[in-house]
Amino acid sequence: MDHELPSRAGVVIVGGGIIGASTAYHLAKRGWTDVVLLERKRLTSGTTWHAAGLITQARPTSATRQIVKRSLRIFESLERETGFATGFQRTGTLHLADSDDRWEELRRQASACRSDGIRVDLIDPGEARTLFPPLSVDGLAGALFFPDDGRGTATDTTMALARGAQALGVRVFEGTRATGVRRDGDRVAAVITERGSIEAGVVVNAAGLWGREFGAMAGVRVPLQALAHYYVVTEAIPGLPPSLPTIKSAPDYSYVRNEGAGLMVGFFEPGSYPWASRGIPADAEFTRLPEDWEHLGPFYENMIKRLPVLADAGIRLHFCGPESFTPDGLYHLGEAPGLRDYYVAAGFNSIGFLSGPGAGSVLADWITDGRSPIDIPEADPGRTAPHETNRRYLEQRVTETLDEAYRIHWPFQQRTRPRGLRRSPLHDRTQAAGAVFGELLGWERANWYAPAGADTADAYSFGRQPWSEHSAAEHRAVRENAGLFDLSSFGKLLVQGRDAEAVLQRVCANDVAVEPGRIVYTQWLNRWGGIEADVTVTRLAEREFLVLSAPATVARDHDWLGKHIEHGEFVATTDISPALAMVAVMGPGSRRLLQSLTDADLSDAAFPFAASREIDLGYGFARATRMTYVGELGFELLIPADLAVHVWDTITQAGPAVGLRHAGYYALNSLRLEKAYRSWGHDISRRDTPLEAGLGFAVAWDKPGGFIGRDALLEQRERGVSRRLVQFALDDPDAMAYHDEPVYRDGIMVGSLCSAGYGHTLGRTVALGYVTAPDAGTDRSWFTDGDFEIEIAAERVRATASLRPLYDPTSSRVRA
Ligand SMILES: Cc1cc2nc3c(=O)[nH]c(=O)nc-3n(C[C@H](O)[C@H](O)[C@H](O)COP(=O)(O)OP(=O)(O)OC[C@H]3O[C@@H](n4cnc5c(N)ncnc54)[C@H](O)[C@@H]3O)c2cc1C
Repeated sequence: MDHELPSRAGVVIVGGGIIGASTAYHLAKRGWTDVVLLERKRLTSGTTWHAAGLITQARPTSATRQIVKRSLRIFESLERETGFATGFQRTGTLHLADSDDRWEELRRQASACRSDGIRVDLIDPGEARTLFPPLSVDGLAGALFFPDDGRGTATDTTMALARGAQALGVRVFEGTRATGVRRDGDRVAAVITERGSIEAGVVVNAAGLWGREFGAMAGVRVPLQALAHYYVVTEAIPGLPPSLPTIKSAPDYSYVRNEGAGLMVGFFEPGSYPWASRGIPADAEFTRLPEDWEHLGPFYENMIKRLPVLADAGIRLHFCGPESFTPDGLYHLGEAPGLRDYYVAAGFNSIGFLSGPGAGSVLADWITDGRSPIDIPEADPGRTAPHETNRRYLEQRVTETLDEAYRIHWPFQQRTRPRGLRRSPLHDRTQAAGAVFGELLGWERANWYAPAGADTADAYSFGRQPWSEHSAAEHRAVRENAGLFDLSSFGKLLVQGRDAEAVLQRVCANDVAVEPGRIVYTQWLNRWGGIEADVTVTRLAEREFLVLSAPATVARDHDWLGKHIEHGEFVATTDISPALAMVAVMGPGSRRLLQSLTDADLSDAAFPFAASREIDLGYGFARATRMTYVGELGFELLIPADLAVHVWDTITQAGPAVGLRHAGYYALNSLRLEKAYRSWGHDISRRDTPLEAGLGFAVAWDKPGGFIGRDALLEQRERGVSRRLVQFALDDPDAMAYHDEPVYRDGIMVGSLCSAGYGHTLGRTVALGYVTAPDAGTDRSWFTDGDFEIEIAAERVRATASLRPLYDPTSSRVRA
């Protein structure tokens, strides 16, 4: 082991669990020769040492599944590469369903997994029993079998990675706690330790459940919290076959695997509780938490009906250890917002062992190449909101993450605690109008409006939703008359200063050097032409612009913009989101309605599409912009928060004259999908280019000075694209798709859906999905000709494909 700390290193990794060790190993494999790994105690002594060792591919998103696939490839070769045993074994996993709803969830999951090339079989209960003879299959509706899943030994795997890294030159320092991080402006500069500091080109926060605490040392927010997490190991069970597949029985909140001559029964049970939320004890190492049979006993005893052999098996070990969970159940992987070259890889929600080898290799590629080989916006550390590191918030929210882990994951499911944090200035008004709220990053947002007497209790389904008819009425009001949306949670960035235009022109693919009073829809691209942001930019004045982005992306958009202000440029960017309410009045009646409330001329000649100006409204004023996310004539209004209620009341009082109806986010989604409007993080992201996404119309190829990503985009235009975003409408009006469903063309899988929902005007499910052709430059017609089918819950449904919006392809309604 190394003794003397170097004074500088290319990369300093903090944390000697599986994530840190994997990152170190893969950096070394990529040729890094000056990597340092710091561990406060001993390698694996955090959470890694007690992982149950399951490697299961059924993950909730495509990117997280791809990372496990990477892990499996690494597990396959690691022992050979390093000479250290990992205990890796391919045993397969059986997922059990005990009801029609569970079975539908599993079948949908099977389809999603297939879209990522994961092998999975649908089997009946009898076959499940053949694979796992001690299983009682009474009451089972079906099962999935993933033959390529496996398991391994977490400590051995981590040691193999760490020793392999050392053999390639990585320096590992155990017993060395990082106590701080030094910044140099917006860059990370050094890691301070108990034994001196190390200047660092790159820092990786792989500190596991200490990730929040270590992040805070650098001013980086990493929302996570450790919870108590359990498994039980039995004594030997006579006659138990070895190498049984792992069982995941979500209805029983349990997983089961061989452990020695007995079984390990682990739990993702409701009623979870936090550990050390006020600070992790300084001496925490190989931590075991006290047994709590009162809490766990009922879950274990329930498992006896599924596995009767447990009834007579003695208990050898009752284990409880801490593991970190996050507010949304997804880990943090990527560069931290606001601090260059500082990467976070923490908060693994009890899948850190199975994700670790893959996540470390992704991070090593990311650090080396400047971009991730797998697009994973859902894990972006910039997706979080500042309140999410609040201790009391975390205690409430993160326990719910674990409580929900093995429950059915319904479409449109809402988190229940804590609620009511971030409210629009119009919250009370929308509530009084019957809003049924959903939550996004703490924001309470009207999903739909309940007419008097309607049932508003959360009731979930994979099919038609209980609120569908009410949302459909809102949708129709927007298409036929007018709808009123409260969109105040939208992000608003004010960009001011002498060089505001120059910076925005460089960052935006579209031309924003327009006259004041115009709005421009644009993407922000990286140097490979991938879409980093999808925003509108309004020119307010010569040196003042307003950038509008979605609530979940405003922090990262702010960060991206800040990153691209060059030395000597004079620009200030300010997030003014809470200062302005945002209201959308959409539909053919919108002009008539607003015209009755303002002296400004709203006619098409005086106020054309993409115009934006301040207008008087009632006794107040608002910035009105002719723009739409629903595909109708409409105006977005930005209103100072103090005037918002007055303007809202003024509009609603005049509303009956045009049949105005309150409309919520579910209607918005249905409307935008019919018009094929894209949503960042779902339909477009960092590895999709505007040419692939069908957004070439928003690229100003020839604007003076060009823009970031132009060269890559030009090259792609020259070459031609092989992948395109296509809109689909399902032929069967009762079929419901949501996301990740595989797409087949003439019987061959060619892509998958990224977002989908019911289109109430088209009367069927509408979706967006990427389709890949055999060659770059394949003719456009290939993407829509042919027989298309979408696989939903393991059954194929015919679909119509289109590269133009199926609703109002010429946008005549928008420009009315
Ligand atoms: C009961 C249980 C069962 C589990 N089963 C599975 C499973 O079957 N499959 C699976 O995939 N996952 C499982 N997990 C989860 C898995 O163990 C974790 O997700 C994973 O080990 C996290 O690895 P890590 O490297 O992020 O964190 P850790 O292993 O905790 O490593 C972080 C390290 O950072 C060090 N550190 C922290 N702060 C500093 C500092 N300031 N300076 C220096 N060092 C620092 C800590 O000492 C620690 O060693 C299970 C977890 C539990 C509790």
